[in-house]
Amino acid sequence: METNKPLTFGPVNSRRFGISLGIDLSPTHKQCNFDCLYCELEKQKTVPIQTDSIGVDNYIVAVQEALLKYPEIEVITITANGEPTMYPYLDELVEKLESIKKNKKLLILSNSSLISNQKISHTLHKIDIVKLSLDCATKECFAKLDRLDSSINFQDIIDGMIAFSKTFQNELVIEVLFVDTINNKQSEIEKIYTILQHINPTRVDIGTIDRPPAYDVKPISYGELEKIAHTFEGLNVTIAHRHKIKLSKNLNEIEILNLLEKRPQTQEDLENLLDENSLNTFHNLLENNCVTVRNQAGVLFYGKSK
Ligand code: SF4
Repeated sequence: METNKPLTFGPVNSRRFGISLGIDLSPTHKQCNFDCLYCELEKQKTVPIQTDSIGVDNYIVAVQEALLKYPEIEVITITANGEPTMYPYLDELVEKLESIKKNKKLLILSNSSLISNQKISHTLHKIDIVKLSLDCATKECFAKLDRLDSSINFQDIIDGMIAFSKTFQNELVIEVLFVDTINNKQSEIEKIYTILQHINPTRVDIGTIDRPPAYDVKPISYGELEKIAHTFEGLNVTIAHRHKIKLSKNLNEIEILNLLEKRPQTQEDLENLLDENSLNTFHNLLENNCVTVRNQAGVLFYGKSK
């Protein structure tokens, strides 16, 4: 189909992935196989397939124009007004983007619904950074929060994510979005953690509702997200929250190293957690090679040296 709606948007400076050009694979209207309570788009009945699609070449022309206009773009992000893996020509699009992207990275943001589909999984293996959502670990929670289309089985999502992670060699980011009273119960958090340990992703991004949601649901606090991040011991976790609290704690060398050993911290985490003296101590540890630094899908994480 044809449309006069823009096929790309941005560039936007994303703190987690860099300067990004977005591609919208459903520019005319929402087409999604989930109806999440927290969706930033309008609430809508789910659909199992995408029926209104724009041709691949239209996207390639739009991306080429944007890359010429904005040479500073670092990452091309495949997204949609809905779920991008429902786009029927995704494989062809990814192949063509690969051939024109040069040194830019290709990123996709998916709700994970079709990850157990062999064709989709095969296509995602060609992408530099795959970001998959995992909000729940149980059928009840998926039904309540993500409200899956009847064509989707929650267990296939979990099994598909674990299977995908075993063969995917590029960067895998898992996003978990927490909604008050729905998926922030301790039992659900622990089950999500178990699945995350099986997946062992490059990075886990946790967050909560940030913009007006489709339904009447509430975010959780920054403090609660911090507690969850501590539960996810051993994983590279970033926390997204509009109202971060500056804790300004005074920690000595040993306390800082213990903290980094438990869970790698981002620059932002450390700036929120430590007071100025402790930040200086941290920088000394870094200079003396007691701290390691690793780039995990665009975010620097500091850990304790072995
Ligand atoms: S998967 Fe994304 S687009 Fe679809 S309903 Fe959920 S939040 Fe909205």
